[in-house]
Amino acid sequence: MKKAIFTAPFKIGFQETEIPSISDDEVLLKVISIGICGSDIQMYHGRHKYMTYPVVPGHEVGSVIVKVGANVTDFQVGERVSVEPQITCGHCYPCSIGRFNVCESLKVKGVHADGFAAEYAAIEPRFLHHCPGNMDFDLITLVEPLAVGVGSVKRSHYEGANIAIIGAGTIGNLVAQSAQALGAGSVLVTDFVDGRLDFAKACGIQHCANTRDIGLKQAIENTFGERKADVIIDCAATRGSFMSAMEASRPSSEIVITGNYKEPMELEVPRIQRREVSVIGHMMYVREDFADAIRFLSEGKVKTAGFISQRFPFDDFDKAFAFIDEHPNDVMKAVVNIGTY
Ligand SMILES: [Zn+2]
Ligand SMILES: [Zn+2]
Repeated sequence: MKKAIFTAPFKIGFQETEIPSISDDEVLLKVISIGICGSDIQMYHGRHKYMTYPVVPGHEVGSVIVKVGANVTDFQVGERVSVEPQITCGHCYPCSIGRFNVCESLKVKGVHADGFAAEYAAIEPRFLHHCPGNMDFDLITLVEPLAVGVGSVKRSHYEGANIAIIGAGTIGNLVAQSAQALGAGSVLVTDFVDGRLDFAKACGIQHCANTRDIGLKQAIENTFGERKADVIIDCAATRGSFMSAMEASRPSSEIVITGNYKEPMELEVPRIQRREVSVIGHMMYVREDFADAIRFLSEGKVKTAGFISQRFPFDDFDKAFAFIDEHPNDVMKAVVNIGTY
């Protein structure tokens, strides 16, 4: 079988290997599609803080089970599954209370361990989620990023809340759609790129604003009026986005950090203290977020028409990355087709 490997910055190679054998406790997946994510781009550029080469990328996976180990009872051959890529220890304190996403020794398949840019993969069923039998494999690749959106919203007191999301890219869009699907009161998404906001509108996101000229604070006041934003979710992860979130916060606002910040930043601690602003970190998802994501996608609660903006065959894996570099504003989600079923 063929697998793709990041060997150095901007270098992607292919390798021919045996199809992995499975133990009695594992299943064999045939990988049909994988999505390319912002973190894959960082790895491709050699700017990902927590990875080392060589590594097989790919953590947004649409796959089908083609072989089942003797001890596996809850999954069957022919079943479409979504893969949770987090490798957790299961016994640290966060794991013991179900917060696997912040396991003290968290690793992610496709980042710190080999991922799914391969024709087949052996895996234990605990990483898998059942998907409906008619669910499109490309749609299944969106389960993982949507679970990030669900996880992000659930870090806040979202029910009935006014939620502003900074950034209308893939994650910002999915965070905003998750907020609506989970029962937020009113949702605003902001960006500097009109195309992304037009797409957000087409996805049914209630309020969309370009903050290039007016700034986040004004956009929030225009949309939510005096109550302003109960929750601000930062998916842009720039110095400017965090500062604008602080500036736009009102007493008792919650600021959720979902974007990947790369550098330390100073915090306006007096504002946090005096106005009881909560700054909340967010990392990936827990298992229930995956289940919500599958439900929202299969029930059409999250709009995905046009979401997959480019498709590439596996042989053009490197071209997909080059394309994304050249067209950063035209790519919502690029998917690489690896196999057929
Ligand atoms: Zn991802
Ligand atoms: Zn743990």
